[in-house]
Amino acid sequence: MTAGVSIRAVTQRYGSALALDGVDLEITAGEFVVLLGPSGCGKTTLLNIIGGFAEPTSGAVLIGGRDMAGVAAKDRPTTTVFQDYALFPHMTLAENVGFGLRMRGMAKAARDAKAAEMLALVGLEGRAARRPHELSGGQRQRVALARALAVEPDVLLLDEPLGALDLKLRRAMQDELKAIQRRVGTTFVHVTHDQEEAMAIADRIVVMNGGKIADIGPPREVYLRPKSLFSAGFMGEVNKVPVVGGKSALGPLAVPDGVLCIRPEAISESGALRLGPCRVEETTFFGTYLRAHVSPLAAPDLRLVVHLAQGAAPELGSVLDLGAQDFVVLEA
Ligand code: ADP
Ligand code: MG
Repeated sequence: MTAGVSIRAVTQRYGSALALDGVDLEITAGEFVVLLGPSGCGKTTLLNIIGGFAEPTSGAVLIGGRDMAGVAAKDRPTTTVFQDYALFPHMTLAENVGFGLRMRGMAKAARDAKAAEMLALVGLEGRAARRPHELSGGQRQRVALARALAVEPDVLLLDEPLGALDLKLRRAMQDELKAIQRRVGTTFVHVTHDQEEAMAIADRIVVMNGGKIADIGPPREVYLRPKSLFSAGFMGEVNKVPVVGGKSALGPLAVPDGVLCIRPEAISESGALRLGPCRVEETTFFGTYLRAHVSPLAAPDLRLVVHLAQGAAPELGSVLDLGAQDFVVLEA
């Protein structure tokens, strides 16, 4: 029903290109792991290697402690949900969901019972006799999920499964996906390039860049305590101020040498790490906060992005004495 996944020194070459560069990753049974990174960073390649759709150039994949070398995709304890979830249009939802079970020789009555159970799990009870064209995009995606879970994989692999949905539906499906994963306890490995989606659903986020793991940890840790500049920037907006020997463009700063990284929402008039007086250049109301561009008087060419309280209304050109209440210093 659930199994851990060990990825050991997995490298994938396509000609002279390195799609994966010595990736090591231990996924615990029942964990919801999200592979996050920009297009081309190797997410799909890694997912395909776990699912058995590609053999790595070198390295090993173990599922439930069993080495998967030479094990075909159909013989692995995994199923995959793709972005274009391709339901069979001429089949009912029950037939779609029961398809994998039919391939495994399960009798019709048992298949239909399992399909009904799976459709209920994804909130589509009573729709077994419908056909895919009668459903909305979000409902079709849920049928694809039910179909993948019907064969009771130990590990479910999802490659940008919500990519085709509009933003509002995607956010709703994220909550459902997480709830379903909790209910079934199956290990989920989910690929996305959307950092908000990753934070919404993951137990742990694996940030990838150029075929390598750039950071790994629970959402809070990766967002607030990123371990690399790439991860800091990919997880959200960040102000970067280089510091050498305690000196910076803003003046002296009592932090170690490196790049001082401050999230926009970590800057306020009361922050302990004083950044000095800053002129307000531009403001935009974003509903939950006021986004401002400010320039430190000590470094007028430097622009900092600051999220002020919703009710703040500083005049353009006015000067705020700002500080950072949270920050990290990373290697350049
Ligand atoms: P992602 O899913 O993160 O967008 P991919 O894993 O699809 O990235 O691709 C990683 C890199 O490997 C890219 O540079 C891509 O062009 C390359 N690549 C992927 N599959 C192949 C292939 N079958 N042949 C050649 N290059 C490939
Ligand atoms: Mg991809």
